[in-house]
Amino acid sequence: MATNNVKGTHDVIATEANAYSMVESVMKSLAELYGYNEVRSPVLEYTEVFSRGVGQSSDVVRKEMYTFDDKGGRSVTLRPEFTAGIMRLVIQNKLYATNELPLKLYYCGPVFRYERPQLGRYRQFNQFGIESIGHDSPYNDVEAIALAYSILQSLGLENVTIKINTLGDEETRNNYRTALRAYFEPHIDNMCEDCKSRFELNPLRILDCKVDEDRPIIDKAPKVSDFLSEASKARFDVVLESLDALGIPFEVDDALVRGLDYYSETVFEFHYQSLKGNNYGAIGAGGHYGKLMKDLGGPDYPGIGFSFGIERIISVLSDDDLLQNVESKLDFYVMPIGDESRQFALGVATILRSAGYKVDMCFDNIKMGNMFKRATNKRAKYAVIIGENEVKDNKVVLKDLEVQTQFEASIEELVDVVDDLFDQDECCCKKEGNEHHEGCCHNQEGEHHHGCCHNKKEGE
Ligand code: AMP
Repeated sequence: MATNNVKGTHDVIATEANAYSMVESVMKSLAELYGYNEVRSPVLEYTEVFSRGVGQSSDVVRKEMYTFDDKGGRSVTLRPEFTAGIMRLVIQNKLYATNELPLKLYYCGPVFRYERPQLGRYRQFNQFGIESIGHDSPYNDVEAIALAYSILQSLGLENVTIKINTLGDEETRNNYRTALRAYFEPHIDNMCEDCKSRFELNPLRILDCKVDEDRPIIDKAPKVSDFLSEASKARFDVVLESLDALGIPFEVDDALVRGLDYYSETVFEFHYQSLKGNNYGAIGAGGHYGKLMKDLGGPDYPGIGFSFGIERIISVLSDDDLLQNVESKLDFYVMPIGDESRQFALGVATILRSAGYKVDMCFDNIKMGNMFKRATNKRAKYAVIIGENEVKDNKVVLKDLEVQTQFEASIEELVDVVDDLFDQDECCCKKEGNEHHEGCCHNQEGEHHHGCCHNKKEGE
């Protein structure tokens, strides 16, 4: 039997692969608009980066890491999240010393968690995220949330709910932990095994427990909002007022604690219900961290970050029918008739590709009808037909596969001719039902948009 993929991993094929590229490119270009620069950290880190960084009480470190000894006997781990590895990268390369703060970094790539595979939950999945390090302003938190929200909006996702909470500063969390211990003490013997160890390591984690029998006790536990220091309360108020001022909708959820130990102050999650009513839970999440960098041996700088789960985002885009325009299409399918035309045809394909068009070509000696079928299956806009005569006369026949008209173009004029064709196709005037004419976009009162004046400089 052929070997299958590893449980919890998935192959990304065809339209889905295009969807990944589209989503990642929207995320990257928006992060750059907000002043973030890309970093690529290794998939493999020493285990300590995560055990110290993410924290011993998190489920990720306790149960979900792919950890093994390498051949030199060092314990290494496939990253289960990005933030701790990015902090290691920043500390080791002293980026905080050579850059203005906050240091604004974005990342994208696979992460690995040994979780029970189910819908929307994989063992290898992809995250895109940002970290803004070295500034404690609450406005830094707001800017990060604004970036995440604008990414979701740019992708066309309308039904996002932002849940937000504060875990407060160290004083808040110390007081809150003491209160939680006192509250859970009489119940803990009857709670799940995980909760028992969370009680010892970090009682805050108990609030994340998913075991149904434990929920009634957990739901009545004290809330962090009752323990907030004045400073944390004031900080959180600034975050909420600024989100309001930016018109970003949110819900304060005082049960939100997040699964990773390093968070402090602002924490948030992006939840999604598709337009068809399906609930996808969290498609992204993040928060502020006060001591992570220091815990990893760096300077005492705070940070804020978030990450999106790309698989979940693609699922919701698909459910909301927002992936139609990522299907692969060709501009031209080049169809040489007979072996003698093939070299000439390859030259034609190269000319068109150099001019920026998406071109594929037929290498088989098959009937014209079958070549047309291939062109249609590949969703080509035009067929480029090249037979003996075309080679002799240094020309091609172009056929519009939608309206089925065909015409000739000499090789010298080919790029001008096809530029004109695409100019007309993309022209906003034509889309609006008017006649296309040279320079028509400029003469209209309507908005100039990208592509409407193909070949001209933007804004001309
Ligand atoms: P976290 O690092 O746990 O805060 O997760 C950030 C985002 O990654 C979540 O909101 C999900 O969208 C996504 N995510 C987390 N775990 C998985 C998983 N096992 N499979 C797919 N996506 C995940």
